Amino acid sequence: MKAVVFDLDNTLFDHTGCAVAGLRSWVTELGITPTDELIAEWFVIEEDQFNRFLAGELTHQGQRRGRLRAFLPVLGLPVPVADAELDEVFTGYLTQYTNNWIAYPDARPALEVARSNGWRVGVLTNGSTRQQNAKVAAIGLADLIDVVCTSEALGVSKPDPLAYQRVCEALGVEPGETLMIGDNLELDVIAARAAGLSAHHLDRAAGATLTQLVGRQ
Ligand SMILES: [Mg+2]
Repeated sequence: MKAVVFDLDNTLFDHTGCAVAGLRSWVTELGITPTDELIAEWFVIEEDQFNRFLAGELTHQGQRRGRLRAFLPVLGLPVPVADAELDEVFTGYLTQYTNNWIAYPDARPALEVARSNGWRVGVLTNGSTRQQNAKVAAIGLADLIDVVCTSEALGVSKPDPLAYQRVCEALGVEPGETLMIGDNLELDVIAARAAGLSAHHLDRAAGATLTQLVGRQ
């Protein structure tokens, strides 16, 4: 191996943890008790709207507005008609989400192992360039990562084989000498292998850790 490529959300970056914490604070600010059912509904809506962004049906801001149009009625709140008002409401959530941004404790040690192996280090993430780079910087990992490739910047998203090939090109390595690690079995493992990379699945629920997967060759 000459390089390792990590997924970002729920791999290096604890998206679900940050989103749950942020959502609880924001919903409370709105005067509503955040229940597990409300939180589960938020994630169903988030996935639906984010997939529409990845499919090119919505802009990144558009999927945020779509999330609120679907979620505010769940809270029993009125939906503003004007986009600017919706954006202002979303800022309330975004502020709380951003306040909770954090890396998994094993992220930095895993990147350090990769560096000590002499590997190039990349990130391949489906998301917006501005937000994903802001996350990498905020969680203090930017100094250990050579390349961050977002679906927005690449113009293709996982599982398109081109996405994996482009991150390898950006790192100056061949797919056959690159390891991909991520939490999503389909996007980070099966599709990565189909594009010619090696891949390990980060199944945290089953006890897998990033340091273990980077070390296991
Ligand atoms: Mg992920």
